[in-house]
Amino acid sequence: MLTLDSRIEEISKIGAANARRLKRLDLNTVQDLLFYFPFRYDNFSKVSNLKNIRQGEKINIIGTVEFIQAKKTPRKRMHITEAIISDDTWQIKAVWFNQPYIAKSLKEGDTISLSGKVETDYGGWLLKSPTYEKVFANELASAKARGLEQSIIPTYHLTQNLTQKQISFLIKQVIPLADKLFDWLPVNILTNQKLLTLPEAIKKIHFPESLEEAEKARQRLAFNELFLLQIQSLLVKAELKNRKANKIVFQEQKTKEFVDSLPFKLTDAQKKAAWSILLDMDKEQPMSRLLQGDVGSGKTVVAVMALLNCALNKKQAVLMVPTEILAQQHFKSIIRLLSYSEIRIGLLTRSEKKINFEFDTVGPESNEEVKSEREKLEIGNWEIGLSSNEGELEKVDSGKIKVKRKKENKINAQAIVDSAEILIGTHALIQEKICFSNLELVVIDEQHRFGVEQRKTLLSKSQPSTKSSSKKIQTPVQETSPHLLSMTATPIPRSLALALYGDLDISRIDEMPTGRKPITTRLIKEEGRAKAYAFIRQQIQEGRQVFVICPLIDISDKLGVKSVKEEYRKLNELVFPEFAIGLLHGQLKAAEKDEVMQKFITNEVKLLVSTSVVEVGVDIPNATIMMIEGADRFGLSQLHQFRGRVGRSDHQSYCFLFTDSNSAQTAERLNALATHHNGLELAKIDLKFRGPGEIFGTSQKGFPELKMASLFDYDLTARARKEADDFLKDNSDLSRYPALKMRLNRVVREAHQE
Ligand code: ADP
Ligand code: MG
Repeated sequence: MLTLDSRIEEISKIGAANARRLKRLDLNTVQDLLFYFPFRYDNFSKVSNLKNIRQGEKINIIGTVEFIQAKKTPRKRMHITEAIISDDTWQIKAVWFNQPYIAKSLKEGDTISLSGKVETDYGGWLLKSPTYEKVFANELASAKARGLEQSIIPTYHLTQNLTQKQISFLIKQVIPLADKLFDWLPVNILTNQKLLTLPEAIKKIHFPESLEEAEKARQRLAFNELFLLQIQSLLVKAELKNRKANKIVFQEQKTKEFVDSLPFKLTDAQKKAAWSILLDMDKEQPMSRLLQGDVGSGKTVVAVMALLNCALNKKQAVLMVPTEILAQQHFKSIIRLLSYSEIRIGLLTRSEKKINFEFDTVGPESNEEVKSEREKLEIGNWEIGLSSNEGELEKVDSGKIKVKRKKENKINAQAIVDSAEILIGTHALIQEKICFSNLELVVIDEQHRFGVEQRKTLLSKSQPSTKSSSKKIQTPVQETSPHLLSMTATPIPRSLALALYGDLDISRIDEMPTGRKPITTRLIKEEGRAKAYAFIRQQIQEGRQVFVICPLIDISDKLGVKSVKEEYRKLNELVFPEFAIGLLHGQLKAAEKDEVMQKFITNEVKLLVSTSVVEVGVDIPNATIMMIEGADRFGLSQLHQFRGRVGRSDHQSYCFLFTDSNSAQTAERLNALATHHNGLELAKIDLKFRGPGEIFGTSQKGFPELKMASLFDYDLTARARKEADDFLKDNSDLSRYPALKMRLNRVVREAHQE
């Protein structure tokens, strides 16, 4: 007998291979499968029969490709693709102009859906440049077999070799078990809000009879997510009220000196944000602030003002970032920005442990003496003193240095932690062994890339005693917490941010530094590739630099998806043999990544072929072209982040998108990037195409529970907020709601303290 907790292998006719594939999607039990929601529905109830269509009518049909050919007109050299499509009732001709790839992607016998306006052609019907999608014959057969019983067909995110039909087939088998699901939402809220019950919602999300029904189901499931989020944020708010922090006194004069030392003038928005942050830190309540600003708006320098103030107060500050590349970049740029000061700045990643001054493992005090004799060495054009405990410095010809790391893993992370006043690092900062004794400020860059768990761990690092309390919902004791500044480019609408993060104060940088030009963005067809390369060559000759992004590291078995290694070879040997080209991906060692980035920073490397490791934070103002292969594999918000790597100076910048996908939908989605330059608009468009969970890509860990709710569910969020507020007034300890409490504990264990 199947139960909700049965493992998926126990479902009949599942097959070992499919069970494995489902596990890849993290679906292990029957319950997981019930909660695996479709992100889109096709409405086959509105499909026309060809025998009933009329001239001028906009139609949506499904049929079989009977015939297809591509030809060129003799004079104009225009490509024309012609096809005859038939359904069971009649046939229609379709033509497309200058899209020769269509004839390659569609073949006779394929089932496709077509949408367009009906015209006549020599007495027959014609569709000119209709949009089309391939429909998998199986799906259609199953849709047809179900006939009117189900004309709304769900689409799920899949993994390789798993089909829509298979997943529907499995869900159909287990759907009766939805009745056994326990609904933790208090009944009065259910009735107040006129929501479907949980079993109803689960059934209708998978097998809706109409789009309205599917939407009602989605709303119920989204309400759950938002309600939990609200409860969570209200509880954290209450908890924060009890917390104390040590003041970080605002050093006005020194801060002004820093601002004057910058090579540019701060924007008003930067000044305003910095002002709120510095005043917040000067209080005995821990700051809890989110700094939001679109890519390239200049968040780093604002963070540096906070880090500097903390260090001037003789307290320790930490900056945590999601990638090694970004850690290295911040390490160098912060050393440069603060080069006039004596502040000790450390770097701590899995494989790199460095500090800008010589230090002694004995402890911070003895550093004062060593400092004066510090050794300065040249790395590229960065003048910094560098020390690597147990590593050996060695000068090599070009004046660059090489750090030998004989006993690399023995470098003592704790010594760096003890010594650095400002410490920059990755997840390595939160490893068990390290502890901080004087940590008063935590800055998290690209906060959406971290799980709540990781943020919480770092915050509790200065507080070993709070470890056990993180399991409880409320902590009544008064403890001191470090001040927290989170930074993100994620576009969260203001009203929603307030609702989502009721416990956070928000600062926005809503203007770009002066002189920035919109980035010219184009979706380029294969025929345009040579021209794009010529343009790139010209830009490089003018002194600029280029990023080339590919979705994969190695050549994959899925033909057509570009890999960095392959692309690197091609560009290096065939296309741009005259330029130095760098290769960057996550499998390289930190030192190798650093070396490539360093050469890119110093303009030795002109063209950097990279995976998505440069998606966030990377700042190379001289780079003006962002070329993205396999662009359809990325979400719009992700593409917007990539694009944000260029346009960081007053040079005109460009973003070129390439894709092998022939789908009209993909083209429409990618073209949105050409017309929209605002992250929020793009997130909205992505929602339409990819579903809520996907807006920020899989890396959006900051919204772990938002599978069905979207950032644009303003109304639903407000309703959830109100219910959560009322509910907690009567039930602050949740004792009467054990199921809800259990559900929350799971979330609160990853306590929400962005
Ligand atoms: P993000 O907000 O994406 O983290 P960064 O902090 O990396 O942006 O800043 C982007 C670039 O803009 C950097 O090269 C930085 O030095 C520069 N920058 C920051 N503020 C200003 C400003 N007020 N005027 C000119 N350039 C600035
Ligand atoms: Mg940044």
